[in-house]
Order: sequence, then C-alpha cells, then structure tokens
Amino acid sequence: MTVDSTSTHADSVDKPQATADSRPLHFLEQIIQKDIDQYTAAQQSSDQQGDYKIVTRFPPEPNGYLHIGHAKSICLNFGLAEKFNGICHLRFDDTNPAKEDQEYIDAILNDVEWLGYEWEGEVRFASSYFQQLHDWAVHLIEQGNAYVCHLTADEAREYRGTLTEAGKNSPYRERSVAENVAEFAKMRQGEYDEGVCVLRAKIDMSSPNINMRDPIMYRIRKQDHHQTGDEWCIYPNYDFAHGQEDAIEGITHSICTLEFADHRPLYEWFTEHLPVPSRPKQYEFGRLNLNYTVTSKRKLKQLVDEGYVDGWDDPRMPTIAGLRRRGVSAAAIRKFCEMIGVTKSDGVVDVGMLEHAIRDDLDKNAPRAMCVLNPLKVVLTNYPEDKTEVMTAAGHPNRDDLGERILPFSQQIYIDQDDFREEANKKYKRLVVGKRVRLRNAYVIEADSCIKDDSGNIIEVHARVIEGTLGNNPEDGIKPKGVIQWVDSKQHATFDTALYDRLFTDESPDSGDKNFLDTINPNSVEKKLACIGEIGLLDAPIGVTYQFEREGYFCKDSHAETFLFNRTIGLRDTFVG
Ligand code: ATP
Ligand code: MG
Repeated sequence: MTVDSTSTHADSVDKPQATADSRPLHFLEQIIQKDIDQYTAAQQSSDQQGDYKIVTRFPPEPNGYLHIGHAKSICLNFGLAEKFNGICHLRFDDTNPAKEDQEYIDAILNDVEWLGYEWEGEVRFASSYFQQLHDWAVHLIEQGNAYVCHLTADEAREYRGTLTEAGKNSPYRERSVAENVAEFAKMRQGEYDEGVCVLRAKIDMSSPNINMRDPIMYRIRKQDHHQTGDEWCIYPNYDFAHGQEDAIEGITHSICTLEFADHRPLYEWFTEHLPVPSRPKQYEFGRLNLNYTVTSKRKLKQLVDEGYVDGWDDPRMPTIAGLRRRGVSAAAIRKFCEMIGVTKSDGVVDVGMLEHAIRDDLDKNAPRAMCVLNPLKVVLTNYPEDKTEVMTAAGHPNRDDLGERILPFSQQIYIDQDDFREEANKKYKRLVVGKRVRLRNAYVIEADSCIKDDSGNIIEVHARVIEGTLGNNPEDGIKPKGVIQWVDSKQHATFDTALYDRLFTDESPDSGDKNFLDTINPNSVEKKLACIGEIGLLDAPIGVTYQFEREGYFCKDSHAETFLFNRTIGLRDTFVG
C-alpha cells in the first residue's frame, strides 16, 4: 500500500481514534496504524522506497468445521487487511495428518467465502513448506541449536520439570552436530518407529516458560498426509511451523488467540535463529467464548461422531455451516463479530448478543410470509364456494425491493389453532365465537360456531366475512379485536417445520469438571408436520430466510428430501434457561 501522509490515518494516533462507523480503533488496529505511521515517517525522513502493505492470515487446521469463534478470527484478520489496504492469506495449518481431512478443507473454504471474504492469491498450505522447514531444522542442528532426543515420552515429561521447578537437561542434549545430522536423517528416512525419538530445539531447560524448555520441533508419524501423501514420515510441531510459515509468506501481523502468548518467545526464538525471509510479529487477542455454547472443535466433533446432532451443519451447531443452514446470514455473523469487539482478555459473551444480531438482520431483510404451524380449518359460510380472490401484500413493510406477494383467498382457509377459542376473556385478541378478528391482508370475519371431534378437539370453525372490510373497518362500527394470519385451503404450500432451541441448557456447558454431554437440551428440536404456508413458499429458494408473521424466522432446509423449514429464531427472546 502506498501510504499517503495526508490520509486520515496519519494524524489519528494520539487522538481519540474514530473509524468510519465512529468506533474507536481497537488495540490491534492501533498497533497497525502505528506501524503504518512509523513506516510513513521513515519514508519521509530517508529515501526509503517501496510500499508497506500489511499482511495477515487466517490459519485454520483442517481437523473440523469452522465455528462462531473462528468467525471472529476470520472477521478480524480479513477485516484488518481490508481496513488498512493490506492483504490476508488463507493458510491451512496442516501439520498433523492424523486428524485432518479433505472434507474439512472443502468446508472451511466454502465457509470463509460465504462469510464474504476473499483471500489473496492461492489457498496456502503449511505442508507445501515441509521441505523448507526440514532444511531449517537441519540448519538449527548445524548451528548446534537442535538435537535428536531419545527420551521416552514418560522420561521427557519427568525431565521437563513443572511450573515451579526447573527441568533437567536430556542426556542426548550434548550429542555432536554430526551425530544429530545423522540421527535426524534416520528419522526422516523412516528408520525409527513412531515415538522413538524427536527433534528438539536446544534452548533452556531452566526457563520459567515451559515452552522454552527444549521444545519439540519434529515428531515421527508414519502417516500419509492429505496433501503430501507418503512423502514424509516426520512432521513439524505447531511451534516450529507457524512462525516460519508466517515468515515465508511475509505476514506482518500474525494474530492469534491468547493461549499462544506463552509461545511468543519461542516464535521469536525460531525466527531469530533462522535465515527466514521476513520477521513477522505475533499478537494475541481474547478468544470468543459464548455462553450456552461449546466452541471446541474436539467437542463439536464428538457431538457429530456420537450422533448427538445430525452432522457438522446440524442447524443447532454453532458452526458456520450450522448457522447458515439454520438461516443466519453472513452479514449477521459479521455484525456480531463487530459488536463484540476485540480485546486483550478472554471473556464470555452472552449468546443473546448473537441472537440480537440475527434478529436485527432478519427484521430488516427477511421477506414476510404467512404460515400456520397448527392448521385449523375455517369455513366462511357466506362466501361463494367457487370464488377465488387474489389479495396482495408487501414482501416487506419497508423494503419495496422485496416486491409484492400474491395471496389467493377462497371460502375455506386455515388459521392457527391458537388463534381460535370458543370462549375467551377480553385479553384474548383473536377469533372467538360471536366476535370479530381481521385476517391479515384480507377481510374482517366473525365466528359463529365450531365443530369438535369425539374427544372434544375443535376441528373446524364456521365464520362469516363482514362485507366491505377489505382495507376498511366494518360499517356497523364493531371493530375486530386483533389481526391473525391465515392461508388459503386450495392454493398453499404444505411443509414440515423444525423449531430449534439452544443445544445446551447450561450456561457454561463445559466449564469446571462438567461433562458437556450431560447438559444437552433434550428439547432442542421440535418438529411440526404438515404446516401450511402461503403459496409463494413453494418457490422458496435455499438461502433466503423468511419472517413467518407472528411465528418467527424460517428458511428452507438445504438438505431435506422432505419439504422442511428450519426455524432460525423466534421473533422475541423466549428462552427460559
Ligand atoms: P484446535 O487448534 O484445538 O484444533 P482451534 O479452535 O484453535 O482448535 P484452529 O483451526 O487452529 O482451531 O483455529 C484457526 C484460527 O482461529 C486460530 O488462529 C485460532 O486462534 C482462531 N480461533 C479458534 N477459536 C477461536 C475463538 N473461540 N475465538 C477467536 N478465535 C479463535
Ligand atoms: Mg489451533
């Protein structure tokens, strides 16, 4: 990016900092702004040439689907690049073939794109740097900074020490360079079984930071890799891989979650001791934790593998794929990530905030439709049997671009069972025998009687249309009590609905020694069969979420062979946890 000293960025460092939407810059934005300003100043005082572009990256490990926590990291990394005219890479951190899979790679790419972000250039893979990482490992060995260690896992644990006790040097620590080169070559050639030895960096067994106590760089894993096949039988550890990958790609700001703060000295140690092409810096921010939600890939995988949910994209899952299938828009997720902000400490965000962002987005954007979840037939006894009128209604009350809906109306219609009572007190503003109600977008009707089955359930209502009430109040001055939705009995769509609730009943399902599986909400889904909705819903596209008036937000399921609508969320918060 060419930094222009007259741009608004340049003079904003010490003042209250405002962005376009007038929120103050968060700490990472401030850091980047400062870096840009420093570069600009250096450029002015010397003859420093060249552009300064910030480069961030989103580095998922393809060992599961992305969840709402990852969305925060995606919005942050891509968002910073966007805001500061930089670029963002997408790099799979695929250093552990045992848990990784092509299915996850495909899902992750799809999710990032769906969220609305574009990575710079090709998708990148840590595995494409394996040769370079290997050569750098050899470099460290040759400099006397790494050694092959044959301690068993148990011994290594004992030698490592504890938080309060220094570790002890491994007996293999003083091997000669030549011996280490030879041993590492044997590891690489598959001459040792898994677990027999590892390559360790030679740093400091008495460091107060356990990550610096001769950390493992390479392990033997006789496992094919989804990208490199059987080319390798040794794989680099995260700590030896990540910083070097960043350096190869010229990442300027390597942003990760707080649990990596203690790894930063090691990140820096490796880049300082290696001839890497650039010196990226690591910054940490607080991860997103949501109450009533689990955001650990391992636990989400367990829910899938053990059949507690119907896959990674089950609409109850906090995965991006699950949220999408549930009817949540990418814009709502991005808005939520913006709302929660970016801080240097971990906290728990109320899932109500996510729900608020979802409702707010849908209220503004969801086309409206009428639907009755529990149909009850109403016969309009004074309406001609063979007549059909066509009513119309706005696609959305404030959005002309969402067009007009066509609502056929004939002698028999359906209303919701909850919208009729034989008798009721004054608080009940729906249809009652002897009383009037307005059918939304149509006439006022008055109920005369109802028919019951043998068990006393109301199965049909007889009512009359009050003439002249299309758009007007009744001429006799007796006003309807309320407005209810309805659907024509001849021309309509019939479908099932799935009403979802939170997947966990506990506010912190996996805190302390709780087993998150014990806190699963047994009523997290309720299916309603044969719901009746307005005719236009027959053509409902996948990916559009509707507001079923008075019922909630619903979208057509992207999988079901049956015709199913998923409830994204209710109109108001009704959860009683
Ligand atoms: P694991 O490493 O245990 O498999 P992970 O959730 O860290 O799980 P990664 O694929 O490594 O998964 O994550 C990719 C990026 O997303 C990392 O930079 C990570 O810090 C970030 N990330 C993961 N979970 C969250 C979260 N809850 N909030 C914010 N960022 C997150
Ligand atoms: Mg991780």
